Amino acid sequence: MAYEKTNAITIRYADYSDTSRVLTFYTRRFGRVSALAKGAKRRYSRLIGHVDLLSFGEIVFISGRTRDRLHILTEACAFETFPAIRKDLARLYAACHAVQLVNAMTAEDDPSPELFDRLLGLLRWLGQGIEPAAPLFAFEAHLLVLTGFMPELSSCVSCGKPNRQSTTAFSSALGGILCERCSAGQTDVVPDVPSGALNLLERLARGKLTRLDRIRVAPQVVASARTFLNHYETYILGRELGTTKDL
Ligand SMILES: [Zn+2]
Repeated sequence: MAYEKTNAITIRYADYSDTSRVLTFYTRRFGRVSALAKGAKRRYSRLIGHVDLLSFGEIVFISGRTRDRLHILTEACAFETFPAIRKDLARLYAACHAVQLVNAMTAEDDPSPELFDRLLGLLRWLGQGIEPAAPLFAFEAHLLVLTGFMPELSSCVSCGKPNRQSTTAFSSALGGILCERCSAGQTDVVPDVPSGALNLLERLARGKLTRLDRIRVAPQVVASARTFLNHYETYILGRELGTTKDL
């Protein structure tokens, strides 16, 4: 039996049987990992008492022992539980959206220590009680870069013309913005995305804005960035995440 130990963030809970649960973690050493927590639904489970959703800690599991190839969780402890996230719905929705994205966009056992650190960083920013919009955008931009889905936001994805318009159309199917000429006749585009929203995402993706607590984003820029990111994430995942409507 191979016991594995790693730092982990709890990203999903699911019922498995009358007494057990399957917990999904994003781990630093193994990427996304699902593990069976036996007896986890009992009221005073020693195991589950330490692994709340959105908590950061350390887990020990036995690698792939069950018939359906689930790992078996044997130990869990929490280092940080970010109580401030649960005290505010906007912060909670942002954190839940981030972990749902990680669950949907990463493969099992495909580690990215940088993505782990970015997710932990997001939870820590939100755990400080700051406005969630900028930290969530920053996380989403890094996630898109790290998974190879970052869209083209500075020049037309069709003809390559640099964007100098104050608003522009965004095509999820083509993975980027379209100039006025190339967007003519295109039906499934997000129209009128302000360049402020595109610039913000680009600068966050390139790591140019790091003091996320100091970024003030105008409400209309937040709304526009949210609209085209929701459209794009829904397109690349092939479905809408449960948290999208709450943001
Ligand atoms: Zn064009």
